[in-house]
Amino acid sequence: AVTARRGTDYYGVFADIPEDDRAAWERAQAYIDEVGTRMLDAWDTGDYPLDIAMRAGELDLFNDGIDHPSLTRFSPLAAGLVNMEISRGDGSLGTVLAVQGGLALRTLALFGSEEQQSRWIVPVARGEVPASFALTEPDHGSDSVSLETVARREGDAWVIDGTKKWIGNGASGGITLVWARVQAEGDPDDGAVRCFLVEQSTPGYAGTVIRGKASLRGIHQAHIVLDQVRVPLTAVLPGTHSFKDASTVLYATRSGVAWSALGHATACYEAALSYSQQRMQFGKPLAKFQMVQERLAQMLEELTAMQLYCRWMADLEARCELRPTQASLAKHHNTRAARRIANVARDMLGGNGILLENGVMQHMADIEAIHTYEGTESIQALLIGRDITGMSAFA
Ligand code: FAD
Repeated sequence: AVTARRGTDYYGVFADIPEDDRAAWERAQAYIDEVGTRMLDAWDTGDYPLDIAMRAGELDLFNDGIDHPSLTRFSPLAAGLVNMEISRGDGSLGTVLAVQGGLALRTLALFGSEEQQSRWIVPVARGEVPASFALTEPDHGSDSVSLETVARREGDAWVIDGTKKWIGNGASGGITLVWARVQAEGDPDDGAVRCFLVEQSTPGYAGTVIRGKASLRGIHQAHIVLDQVRVPLTAVLPGTHSFKDASTVLYATRSGVAWSALGHATACYEAALSYSQQRMQFGKPLAKFQMVQERLAQMLEELTAMQLYCRWMADLEARCELRPTQASLAKHHNTRAARRIANVARDMLGGNGILLENGVMQHMADIEAIHTYEGTESIQALLIGRDITGMSAFA
């Protein structure tokens, strides 16, 4: 049975996991055991093995704690443990989980019409249809609230024009949930930001894989051009009426990013500990040197703080008491701590630390993207700052 690996859970933060949550955690670990080697190859070559990524759906791992009658219920703790475990094994798959489950499935479940939900929720949850969430644009990342993609009402259709950047699964042959500003005179939503379900095979939709990435190399993000993409009026997600709806999804997924960061940090700490116990220098294992022990102690201290954030956050969420800025604080803390742990671990493995086979370098590179997406460090700080001072410093 899966437990937090010996030595990484110093305070027993995950010692008393309920049976159902543990079962989800075990499935995540079995999945990573099954596909880990192929994902390491994918990181090396920069390919995106869609079949492996979508296998997570067959194992019912895409439900990110989303409450919907068609989905198996995951508690926030189960969702977090799955996130942590998959990111510990492979950051690219951790990101697939965040995109397919956290962002796309959640958007459909929260805001989709009955028809959209009955057609797409199960296929997306099972990994039969890759799905993406397209908010960011080349000129609007942190200020995605100013997005420029437009959806014009023309007779019995919406016509969408614009560009999107960094969209996970955006060139995978599935569906994309496109956030756009409505232009429809006389419509109560004229000027508002709404979300549209676009099948990637629709004429005018062109997704190009972003090459040259040095992070999350086992998943593809796309640059998308939407050139007069014509979709039926029913393509709009009826529950979306403003940018706040996109924010609602991002608030809900932010805690998942904090859990992912914990997964990356756990992998790096485990690698550093085991390497320092085996590697001999000056006639002794590295772990016998005082400075090495101090570094391990500091890493464990940070790792434990990350675990405590995550566990407490899951408990708050289970009681429906988690505030968005509390998830921001956890993301802010955990991705920063994961970066530090990865950096120290890399150094502790010496030259071997840059070899993928030793399980640190890819985490060190992957955590850079995770640190940035779903709100950068500075943006999280501004959200927290606004909450504690009552003053917005965004613009
Ligand atoms: P910018 O907004 O240009 O920021 C650059 C720097 O300026 C950052 O350090 C930022 O903190 C700082 N900055 C910005 N504004 C301020 C301010 N007011 N005060 C102080 N500092 C500031 N988006 C999607 O919609 N869907 C996806 O699936 C998706 N997946 C992604 C996957 C990856 C690998 C990456 C890298 C990104 C992904 N994104 C996705 C986009 C992601 O959310 C954005 O990259 C992120 O929000 C930051 O935007 P930006 O990259 O444009 O940076």
